[in-house]
Amino acid sequence: MLTRNLPLVALAAAAALLSAQAAPADEDQTAWRLFVADQATAAVTALDLDAPARRWRFEFAGPSRLYASPSGRAVVAVQSDHDRVDFLRSGIALESHGDHADIEITDPDTLAAFLEGPRPFHVVSHGGTTAVNFDRGGYVAMLDEPALLAGNAGTERFEQSRAHHGFAVPMADYVISSVASEAPVEGDGAPPRVGIRAYEADGTPAGDMQTCTDLHGEAFSGHYLVAGCKEGVVAATVAHGMPEFTMLPYPDDFPEGHTGTLLGSSAMQVFLGNYGRESVVVIDPTATPYFTRVELPFRRVDFVLDPAKPQFAYIFTEDGSLHRLNMLSAEIEQSRRVTGPYSMDGHWRDPRPRLAMAGDRLVMTDPAESQLRVIDPADLSERKTIAVDGLPYNLIAIGGSGLDH
Ligand code: ZN
Ligand code: ZN
Repeated sequence: MLTRNLPLVALAAAAALLSAQAAPADEDQTAWRLFVADQATAAVTALDLDAPARRWRFEFAGPSRLYASPSGRAVVAVQSDHDRVDFLRSGIALESHGDHADIEITDPDTLAAFLEGPRPFHVVSHGGTTAVNFDRGGYVAMLDEPALLAGNAGTERFEQSRAHHGFAVPMADYVISSVASEAPVEGDGAPPRVGIRAYEADGTPAGDMQTCTDLHGEAFSGHYLVAGCKEGVVAATVAHGMPEFTMLPYPDDFPEGHTGTLLGSSAMQVFLGNYGRESVVVIDPTATPYFTRVELPFRRVDFVLDPAKPQFAYIFTEDGSLHRLNMLSAEIEQSRRVTGPYSMDGHWRDPRPRLAMAGDRLVMTDPAESQLRVIDPADLSERKTIAVDGLPYNLIAIGGSGLDH
């Protein structure tokens, strides 16, 4: 039963709230829980998409960027300007039993684990490890999910040769890390990224550095890890037990621009990246010319892949429109205005909508209206809105379906 984890005093009230979700034992259940970070305060609100009155509020040191742990059981709240990373238990536990999945739903809660360190930023999860880059610390915290859920953020670190805004992540028996320039920098400026390289876990280089000027953005899909560079997109894959790099150069007929943000599909081997501000690229690392470019009518604000329908991606542009991109045909199939305009002029971190997929629904923040908008991806129509106090900004959705038995 769903209610077994609630305190007894809350049962009556919870039973009413949960009536939409409650189901007899052994029944199929679908649950999606949203985690929404406020950009003005340090609050993170958790709420159930189908019972949004059921919500929880967590206060951290500063505004968070949110990530899900590999299984979705934990939420990573990165507070870059406050040198801190906190963790929540999502309260959604999905476990595959081969022919079916089990789902267990409990209240979200703070985990005892936390990290403190100089400017945590990019988070990359791969193969059960969540890696948090400390841009001014020169190291990457490698987190193991079971330990995290037990309240222990651990002490496993990968030491980079120089502190920079980059990433590192395990691949095969090695760690792949961005590489910073060794040239001196002025004041407390960060050194530029110049490449990517494989290392032993202790930081000893394993193999040569692959040049990747201004490296930014990284994603996994299938057998590949890719990262954006000035020269192209670098692809890393394991061959004979050893990571191997290939530069996928931008086609000659592309306009000036490069890729610095990437998403990787979990259901097919394909990547979606930005290319400059007004186009996106669909990337197949196995077949030349590797890139298919799609122009957008306005500058891109955010984009998301559809894990359930992997041919689709949704792109939000600054005019307030959502676009459904078919990545197989590289065509924007539909566009629809969903919010007021959100100009990309101004500070990069001004609150602007962010997108998340929650099963067969797309959820986006609309900070100017203090709302979440729940969109039907099939026709981009709005199904409902959910009010969230303040400036809802970064969000993630965690959930799925399974049996409760
Ligand atoms: Zn089962
Ligand atoms: Zn970055």
